[in-house]
Amino acid sequence: MLKQFVPSEVCLKCQGCCRFKEADSVWSPCLLDEEALDLIDKEGIPAVALSINRRLQLVPNPKGEGFLCPFLKIENTKCQIYTRRPFECQLYPFLLNLRNKKVLLTVDLNCPYVKDKLNTPEFKEYTDYLAAYLNSPAQLTILKDNPQILQAYEGALDVIELEWENGTK
Ligand code: SF4
Repeated sequence: MLKQFVPSEVCLKCQGCCRFKEADSVWSPCLLDEEALDLIDKEGIPAVALSINRRLQLVPNPKGEGFLCPFLKIENTKCQIYTRRPFECQLYPFLLNLRNKKVLLTVDLNCPYVKDKLNTPEFKEYTDYLAAYLNSPAQLTILKDNPQILQAYEGALDVIELEWENGTK
């Protein structure tokens, strides 16, 4: 599990994550192959609950507009698989972004907590931690084996470029 940048209590009050405007939103959780198999095996979700590109199929929000992750329990706004939530969910508000054939670690400034923390020592320390983690040979291999999680997110702020070409494969 990755260390978290945004404290859980802040997330629970914010209620911004895990909710999406469109049913096929590019921001919806995309799974590593291993995570997809794990969810099918241990959570009993049908394979059809995953789209062809390993995205969780969102469900209509019963309490309002838009769509929800199927693992968000709307009554208490908690993730039902929090202790083994997907890598992409652990990483957020940071995102792996594919742009001009470069793989970048970017950050989504729609997260008010991280937006407030830009240019702080705390932000620098955390992004140094993430860079070391993501650039490790083992992690680069996992990412290269799961190219579906590299997306072209618009509007995210660049943090660092990953050492993609120097990886292990
Ligand atoms: S898996 Fe959990 S953390 Fe990830 S989007 Fe769904 S409810 Fe949110």
